[in-house]
Amino acid sequence: MYRRNIPHILIPLAIGLAILIGYHLFLKPLHPSPRTEPTEIVESVPPPPVPPQNKPAESESRYVRMIDQAILPHTPHQSLLEDIRDEVEKHNLSLAESKLKALPASVLSDGQSKPFVAILWNNLGLQQERLRGTRASIDAFRKAAELDDTNPVILMNLAHAYWEQRDRALNTEFLTKLMKAAPGEPFPHLAMADLLQEQDDLTGAAMHLAQATQRAKQDPALQSYLATVTERVQRTHSVESRMTARSSTHFVVKFDGAEDQSTWTSVLEILEEAYRDIGQKFGHFPSKPIMVVLHAKESFQSSTGSPVWADGLYDPTLGRIQIPSQGATTDRKWLATVLRHEYVHALLHDRLGSHVGALPTWLNEGLAMQLAGDSWPDLDETLHSEMKVLPLTSLEGTWGTFSAEESIMAYLEANSATHYLIERWGMARVDDLVKSFQLKATVATAFQDKLFISFEQFHRQWLGRFERARP
Ligand SMILES: [Zn+2]
Repeated sequence: MYRRNIPHILIPLAIGLAILIGYHLFLKPLHPSPRTEPTEIVESVPPPPVPPQNKPAESESRYVRMIDQAILPHTPHQSLLEDIRDEVEKHNLSLAESKLKALPASVLSDGQSKPFVAILWNNLGLQQERLRGTRASIDAFRKAAELDDTNPVILMNLAHAYWEQRDRALNTEFLTKLMKAAPGEPFPHLAMADLLQEQDDLTGAAMHLAQATQRAKQDPALQSYLATVTERVQRTHSVESRMTARSSTHFVVKFDGAEDQSTWTSVLEILEEAYRDIGQKFGHFPSKPIMVVLHAKESFQSSTGSPVWADGLYDPTLGRIQIPSQGATTDRKWLATVLRHEYVHALLHDRLGSHVGALPTWLNEGLAMQLAGDSWPDLDETLHSEMKVLPLTSLEGTWGTFSAEESIMAYLEANSATHYLIERWGMARVDDLVKSFQLKATVATAFQDKLFISFEQFHRQWLGRFERARP
């Protein structure tokens, strides 16, 4: 079992993993005090390298996403199809799309033309995706797959779009079909493992991760990712297999050991209230039940690899809120604060999927604090200290290298800047801002496109207010 090196929390989780893994931590004050404020680590893991990726032309054929459309089938509809093909090649995408939609039924019922029409939809989808991402291409790939559900390239392209969009159509049935059509691909197994993890079938998930690993030989980045996830799944499985799980409509709560009915009731009451209250404020409800694991004191550290002082964490790899259960029975205020805060992280993860890492950390934490209604006494103390303000741009990535004082400042600024955002633009616009990170926006473009203000201007205006609030 691996243990993270907590004092050097920034050390990448898996050696050789090229993508950043960060831990954001909120350190307790150096002088130990009675528990007054929650401390947390938010783990962020890289999104899996999603195949099929756009690779240079000379790469292996299995990554090819465009299908050759040079040779037309000899059918009475040949010139009609040729015309559409030319529009796709000339990048007249709307015209090509309307012509494809207007094809007479006789073309689609023709056994030779039909697979070619599927190819045209596929290639149109790729052009749309290049311009506007998978949100724009998903329909074209879906149409292509409806016309030819045996073509592995089409199915892989559709799977890729589903994955990016977190579309629930990436289900067991679709993935089973994809595995048959593209037996050498690791991706269907990785996606199936993800699905099974969500359903808490960790044995099944481990099996598909092994199959994905066998097929990922040519891809070191994917192998590293799979090794990390496999290790976590196995660790979680060994810890949680002895736990008792109880479910409500929106949550699955797991307990270490025999927990009494009253703790379970309190936890669910807090969570269900968070579900309603935060869901209404944010305008988003999770698409699936959220897993919450209450660890016994000893096992919280060993099974999550978290430091002694950590009060809670959200693990986006396995989609779990993890908290130690000591205190849960006696300190309801503490329990509510930790659960609500981590619930917002879970909700943001649900909202953005694998793109949640693109969200600046200050906005992720700020939303958690604002939506959960956190009030952490230390934050106010820091506001009145001599501590220098950290520019928000330095709070976009991981906070793991920060000193205790800096990390408190980071939370304070995150809270303040997010409060300012919500107050000035309203939650709906802030949600637009959040969603733009799903499309891989940068902070600068997201602010400009969604709030019509440059990030620099926003920063100046917020900082002015923030400084005025300090003595
Ligand atoms: Zn947090």
